[in-house]
Amino acid sequence: MRYVQVDTQSDPTSTAHPSSEKQKDLSKMLHRELLGLGITNATTDEYGYVYATIPGNSDKKNIPAICFCAHIDTAPDCSGTNVKPIHHRYYDGNDIVLPDDSMQVLSVAASPYLKEHIGHGIVTASGLTLLGADDKSGVAAIMEAAVFFMQNPAVKHGDIKILFTPDEEVGQGTAKVDMQKLGAQFGYTLDGGEAGSLEDETFSADAAIITINGVIVHPGYAKDKLVNALKVAGAILDALPKNEWSPETTEKTQGFVHPTAVNGIAEKATIQFIVRDFTTTGLTAHHRRLKGIAEEVVAKFPGAAMEYATQEQYRNMKQVLDQHPQVVAYAEEAIQRAGLSVKKESIRGGTDGSRFSYIGMPCPNIFTGMQNIHSKLEWIGTKDMAMAAATIVHLAMIWEERS
Ligand SMILES: [Zn+2]
Repeated sequence: MRYVQVDTQSDPTSTAHPSSEKQKDLSKMLHRELLGLGITNATTDEYGYVYATIPGNSDKKNIPAICFCAHIDTAPDCSGTNVKPIHHRYYDGNDIVLPDDSMQVLSVAASPYLKEHIGHGIVTASGLTLLGADDKSGVAAIMEAAVFFMQNPAVKHGDIKILFTPDEEVGQGTAKVDMQKLGAQFGYTLDGGEAGSLEDETFSADAAIITINGVIVHPGYAKDKLVNALKVAGAILDALPKNEWSPETTEKTQGFVHPTAVNGIAEKATIQFIVRDFTTTGLTAHHRRLKGIAEEVVAKFPGAAMEYATQEQYRNMKQVLDQHPQVVAYAEEAIQRAGLSVKKESIRGGTDGSRFSYIGMPCPNIFTGMQNIHSKLEWIGTKDMAMAAATIVHLAMIWEERS
């Protein structure tokens, strides 16, 4: 309730780190609270990251340092200014009309997961803003677990690393992270949905850029000579399959290509694509197919020429996690010890965890309970948040037991 009232919206148009200075308001609050818990090594830096270590208290000396990570920023898609969280203490199963905008109605019909929270607490915003459970519920779960460890020294664990990051929502969450300073071998982001969910797979992602060179001649004397690159670009877009292979026609484990921008003049045009799949061989096949379609179109415009370029964006974290199966296995066990059944899921997107996994910290994603994220109807159940904190505690205990 306290964390969501701090406006931490990140800014996709900024190249600064953090992208918005106000994110540091929450960094400073968390820094103070960690110090207040007696975690004297807690620090925050000019980029808005917060680092802290709860030192191990076990006699075992070979326990890997485990990081728990959450992001402090909220999505640019929806206002995060003056968030007024409302705690509905005993949710009765009825639709909830948000008080500051009666058009915003949270209903069981649209959000059936609400049914599992009847008789329990849920938190919503007031109708004018998002709630910010994404990802302040992750922050709260980690802080709650920190309180537990500091107050229960009889519970044995290795070094626990706490990391709060800015700018996850604008794809810059790991941009200025100091992995040396963090010093963790494995990590978990707390940035997932329904209780029990565990995400160990993300898309693998590339960009593709098709550049078309036309033939330019004075338009008054262009007969049989001019080739307009814009028209070639239009023809390539038109040649893409209509009923498959796009974000709007695929789900689950299917990949796609998706044109995101067209730029150009008659002489020269570019089409930018994002290409997504769960496997690298899938990505390669998508590139081959896209290039083939484009070449076939360009061949119908004698004189026009094209280039096809690719750019790696991020890779499926599973490729890394499969080399360290205990990371996911212990998370499954911790979720079960917290009394939940595990829901293994794949993310049709990237996470900070996919980037962490490739810069030395294999890092799946654990639930916090957040629902309807990036919208005014965002909500979260308080029992899910408590279960997320419990899962963190169990995870640290399991790493100690197995080392
Ligand atoms: Zn998030």
